[in-house]
Amino acid sequence: MKIAFFSTKPYDKIWFEPMGKEYGFTIHFYEVPFQEETISLARGFDAVCIFVNDYVNARMIQQLYEMEVRAILLRSAGFNHVDVKAAEDKITILRVPSYSPEAVAEFAMGMILTVNRYTHKAYNRTREFNMSLNGLMGVDLYQKTAGIVGTGKIGQAMIRICRGFGMQVLAYDPYPNKELDVEYVSLEQLMAEADLISLHCPLTSETKHIVNRSTIDHMKQGVYLVNTSRGALIDTDALIDGLVAGKFGGVGLDVYEEEEGIFYEDKSGEIMKDENLARLMTFPNVLITSHMGFFTKEAMQAIARVTLDNAYALENGLPLVNKVGTEVVCLS
Ligand code: NAD
Repeated sequence: MKIAFFSTKPYDKIWFEPMGKEYGFTIHFYEVPFQEETISLARGFDAVCIFVNDYVNARMIQQLYEMEVRAILLRSAGFNHVDVKAAEDKITILRVPSYSPEAVAEFAMGMILTVNRYTHKAYNRTREFNMSLNGLMGVDLYQKTAGIVGTGKIGQAMIRICRGFGMQVLAYDPYPNKELDVEYVSLEQLMAEADLISLHCPLTSETKHIVNRSTIDHMKQGVYLVNTSRGALIDTDALIDGLVAGKFGGVGLDVYEEEEGIFYEDKSGEIMKDENLARLMTFPNVLITSHMGFFTKEAMQAIARVTLDNAYALENGLPLVNKVGTEVVCLS
């Protein structure tokens, strides 16, 4: 199988290059993202392998189909960036549904601990021997209430972590997991009662802006919010207004609505044109990271293994256990 690999970073090659050889695949690594302007690079390949800030719309599906590209190999769990419906009967989409839920959940808790206890600020202060504690006071998480939105693999890992901190846990999921020992409540109740809200649901037409002006109004004063799922779960304008009004104790964003083309790139020498992102950076209680919740050795290795196993299964007519269906309405 010949695979065109897009949005390649040095850390992708560490595992994909040697593993690709093991499977006997030819992988061509392109650094450019996969988008309308670069799609012609896929000609002559059997599959394209893409990441979260690449996208495939209906027009691109048709182009890939005409080029006889048979598969889209997603190096991610989320698939909101691909028009799944348009791909039906044309191209097989395979994803990595689970690689290390703990990697993302641990990162989410890390973000909360950082914004709550200002360790990012303390680090900078003490390097200059500024040992003052002014402005660095946080709150205990012990006996506070965590609200987990989405109780899939990552949400469940987050529930375990929150319980380890001695927190009460409320959960919301339209498809509650009966095996799970957790108190499910309505989204409204969760938003109103949680001291910490952590988002772990996929981006769909139902979840877009699940955090919006009205939900923010109903949240507790001083609430902590962390989003390690997809940026568009939060209405950024409403979030900024909430921050200006002093609603939040802290906000951790590993993902951002308009992250495509910015996250994963070094923009330090450029003028930042995204005014919302620039504004978010000015709040002392907001921590932004570049969609890196997944980024552990264990997760990267598992992503490479499952992505290539998916390709192997397709090539050899084996059951496609990680095929993306059309059960979820796709946004892009
Ligand atoms: P999962 O499929 O195991 O779980 C998702 C859960 O969300 C399911 O239980 C589902 O029922 C629930 N859900 C669906 N619609 C919902 C709604 N309207 N409201 C609340 N819950 C809803 O997925 P997962 O592996 O736990 O991943 C969750 C999300 O995390 C992914 O969709 C992806 O966007 C994101 N993610 C981010 C990173 C990162 O690096 N930051 C890495 C991996 C995954």
